[in-house]
Amino acid sequence: MDQIECVVIGAGVVGLAVARALAARGREVIVLEAAEAIGTSTSSRNSEVIHAGLYYPRGSLKATLCVRGREMLYDYCATRNVPHARCGKLLVATAANQIPQLEAILARGKENGVFDLTRISGSEALALEPALECVAAVYSPQTGIVDSHQLMLALQGDAERDGAVIALKSPVESIDALGSGFTVRTAGDAPTDIRAACVINSAGLYATKLAKRIRGLDARHVPPLYLARGNYFSVSGRVPFTRLIYPMPNDAGLGVHLTLDLGGQARFGPDVEWIDAIDYDVDPRRAESFYAQIRSYWPALPDGALQPAYAGIRPKLSGPGESAADFMIQGAASHGVRGLVNLFGIESPGLTASLAIAQRVCEMAAID
Ligand SMILES: Cc1cc2nc3c(=O)[nH]c(=O)nc-3n(C[C@H](O)[C@H](O)[C@H](O)COP(=O)(O)OP(=O)(O)OC[C@H]3O[C@@H](n4cnc5c(N)ncnc54)[C@H](O)[C@@H]3O)c2cc1C
Repeated sequence: MDQIECVVIGAGVVGLAVARALAARGREVIVLEAAEAIGTSTSSRNSEVIHAGLYYPRGSLKATLCVRGREMLYDYCATRNVPHARCGKLLVATAANQIPQLEAILARGKENGVFDLTRISGSEALALEPALECVAAVYSPQTGIVDSHQLMLALQGDAERDGAVIALKSPVESIDALGSGFTVRTAGDAPTDIRAACVINSAGLYATKLAKRIRGLDARHVPPLYLARGNYFSVSGRVPFTRLIYPMPNDAGLGVHLTLDLGGQARFGPDVEWIDAIDYDVDPRRAESFYAQIRSYWPALPDGALQPAYAGIRPKLSGPGESAADFMIQGAASHGVRGLVNLFGIESPGLTASLAIAQRVCEMAAID
């Protein structure tokens, strides 16, 4: 039976960031990834936005790890030449009755330590983005975009340089935590049992399902999971914007916003569609509601401009109509299993927060 110090399950941006951080601290690490490549799940199906940290309740993991992770990420991208841009964002109120919500988000952002937000009038916003229509806005200069795949390749490179091994096509089937340490069983092409002192479950959409297969972990520590698909539509040609444009958030998401990739191509999304099973198909009929939402801030969006693009799925810990749940990062202090860290509900801003999440996981996984 193979023996290793740390097993990280899942090679999404969080698993790779954790592997990098553990390997940098001299840990022996293997990353077990079910798919044939790194980052094929949620980490490559998102808006690629580096969030400033405006929306999340003060003191929450989302707020703390987003604000810390954002600065870590900008530093990392600069050092490792990961393509990114601090392009800024406008959060817009498109009607007077949205101004209280805008003010509340501004106040919350400041509480979270995002001090450089500016409240601007509709005409000041128009001076920045002439195609925009709004009555007031908050300008966030720290918001940016990142090439998520290049980021993951850089994390993988660092982890491997420090001795970590990334094993693809290695789906973890079950984990036994009954004795001291763990026996991790993989299926796939070369089924194997691995002995480990520490297991990080960063399996994204499958993290709760996998946690239910950990013998020795009390099932009451595994929260229910809700799936919320976020659909994106692209626009052919250039759009007349240089900054990201966000409407007011709604009950389960940040609203259908405009994000730009590093080549300047626009995409709009994600909306919120509650689903029962993992399925990434975008229903072209959803375009109708996209036109209405986008035209509230960009009235000149031409008819027929939107094309279905792609979808991502949020692993949510709160269901329809419930208030948004925080990230859940569980170590032995919560579930009593020494050496096990479960990462549940790592939806947005998980990409932004990935390096800060990794730092936290390393602290929790202390196995000395
Ligand atoms: C629509 C949408 C938009 C978003 N936009 C943003 C944004 O703009 N900015 C931001 O900061 N965040 C954003 N996020 C959040 C961000 O994308 C996620 O938080 C982040 O990608 C989660 O990474 P992860 O590594 O936890 O999960 P994943 O990327 O899902 O990786 C999990 C990995 O585990 C593997 N796996 C699963 N089961 C097993 C198993 N049994 N054995 C081995 N491997 C397994 C999977 O194959 C997968 O590769 C968005 C999310 C969504 C859904």
